[in-house]
Amino acid sequence: MPVPKRKTSKRRRDQRSSTRFIRVKAIAKCSNCEHPLPPHSACTQCGFYKGKKVIATKLDRVLKRGELKKAHQANQHMQEYAQENNEQDNK
Ligand SMILES: [Zn+2]
Repeated sequence: MPVPKRKTSKRRRDQRSSTRFIRVKAIAKCSNCEHPLPPHSACTQCGFYKGKKVIATKLDRVLKRGELKKAHQANQHMQEYAQENNEQDNK
């Protein structure tokens, strides 16, 4: 097993760990909504990357879910309506 020849001095050790938490992130702006975000990444607010919609955002999912719910409810109403009509026809 390889073993270090010398003890790492406090200075060397602390110099190494001093750079650990320094992270200067470059910040770019979304081309669509100007939301600040790291470069080369899709916008988390609007889901755009290079002027195209690439990911579904939370808002999109909520809207889609709402539309599905509405469609489902409309379908149920139609079925109920059809059943009522059938019952009336049978009477
Ligand atoms: Zn955006």
